[in-house]
Amino acid sequence: MNLSERLRSNAQHYPNSLSYDYLGEQVTYQELDDRVNRFTYQLAAKGIGKGDVVALLLGNNPYFVTAYYGVIRAGAIVVPINPTFTSRELSYILTTSKCKLIIAHSALQPVLNGLRSQLAELQSIIYAEPVENELNMELLMEEVDEQLSLPELDEEDVAVILFTSGTTGNPKGAMLTHRNLYSNAVACCELFEMTRDDRIIAVLPLFHVFCMTVCMNAPIICGSSMVIMPKFSPVDVVNTIRDTRATLFAGVPTMYNYIMQLPNVSAADFSSLRLAVSGGAPIPVSLLENFSERFQVQIQEGYGLSEASPVTAFNPIRGKRKPGSVGLNIPSVMNMVVDSEGLEVPRGEIGELIVKGPNVMKGYLGMPEETSLTIKDDWLYTGDLATMDEEGYIYIVDRKKDLILVGGYNVYPREVEEVLYQHPAIIEAAVIGVPDEQLGEAVKAYIVRKDAALMDEEIRAFLQDKLVKYKIPKYIEYIAELPKNSSGKILRKSLRETTVV
Ligand code: ATP
Repeated sequence: MNLSERLRSNAQHYPNSLSYDYLGEQVTYQELDDRVNRFTYQLAAKGIGKGDVVALLLGNNPYFVTAYYGVIRAGAIVVPINPTFTSRELSYILTTSKCKLIIAHSALQPVLNGLRSQLAELQSIIYAEPVENELNMELLMEEVDEQLSLPELDEEDVAVILFTSGTTGNPKGAMLTHRNLYSNAVACCELFEMTRDDRIIAVLPLFHVFCMTVCMNAPIICGSSMVIMPKFSPVDVVNTIRDTRATLFAGVPTMYNYIMQLPNVSAADFSSLRLAVSGGAPIPVSLLENFSERFQVQIQEGYGLSEASPVTAFNPIRGKRKPGSVGLNIPSVMNMVVDSEGLEVPRGEIGELIVKGPNVMKGYLGMPEETSLTIKDDWLYTGDLATMDEEGYIYIVDRKKDLILVGGYNVYPREVEEVLYQHPAIIEAAVIGVPDEQLGEAVKAYIVRKDAALMDEEIRAFLQDKLVKYKIPKYIEYIAELPKNSSGKILRKSLRETTVV
């Protein structure tokens, strides 16, 4: 079974069930499958088939859903790309992936025209909205020629290539197979106890793996529906949850934080929600608890990464939920914490988190060396430091590359951030290491404060009995907003690049 077959089987078994709602436009499974099918045959007619790369430069809207499953059904490979990328960023991904076809919003026409001559393999561009003298998705779907034969999909075929944001060097293309994606979507359905009655909000970017698996592939597997939102705003999210009676929400911690800052929201607005999922970055324990108490919504934290399609750990819905932990192994996936030799460390000790399972990528596109450094004996090395307790609950300590070394002592930025978040006048905090003549590195905190009266002395006094001296930030800078990526994750990398001490 694969995602395309599952969509087809839903259309056959529950043709009139809602597959998605987009700003009030409601589309059933039968209608979605029909749209996907028409698009697939058009792709086949253009010679797109097994192994061909098709880039999607689309935001959160029905075009993305149709194009994604259409490309998969045609046996080709989807490369979802952030449509707001600059021409330089697009050029790297489109050339590296040897992209044959681009499906894009019409607003991108000038950028893509500028790039066309550099893209040797590119055969055509299909625009979502009408553009003069260019191929258009809707028009193409009006015609259909089902005489063409479509390829059989093999579960080991690559279905999606995700270019990670590339905190070191150029982005790497994680190759995910049909099996990787399908198995992780099935696991999410089990973890969230999803049924056909569920409605999940898809407001994270669909081109990012978190939303793609949790908010799109998982509901497609279960025959439940998605409520697609074009972009995030805290007020819109609250209103949409209330008005659509959504039952599930998935977000990154900053989203929960923004919602918490809204004054006129109450538990009644969330009365339909049975589960809120947080992932992608650590959620401060204070935020998790305050949110749950104020809105009577349980946030369950999980963990994942693009290379694992993405989910590998989750706090169980039934059973013990441990705040600060990303939970337990998910079905059919193993997590282990190891030392630098790859040997499991005793429970409670810090090491690198490695994971194994049907969700682990095939490798990085065209990078055999990077692949063999990242996947060893089928274990994926995540680059994250973690501990595991006696009951198997995993705690992410931090990213290996974000570790700060102050005079030989390890400082994990997350630990300092967690404590900063406990201060009632701190809205957001990010901690980085900066060069220091005496100690090698020093701790610097960036803070978004509620009140300009909050000063360094008060913060340091607040931290004094909570952190040992070398962990207390030597430098504090107040800013209006922290830099974030397209999915809302705080970018310590950008702070490191621009910091001045
Ligand atoms: P890149 O890995 O290229 O820097 P990225 O952050 O966009 O970019 P993703 O695959 O989206 O890459 O993110 C995976 C990473 O997010 C994990 O390796 C981990 O560091 C972090 N992460 C995900 N979930 C959690 C969580 N619950 N707690 C802490 N960190 C998390």
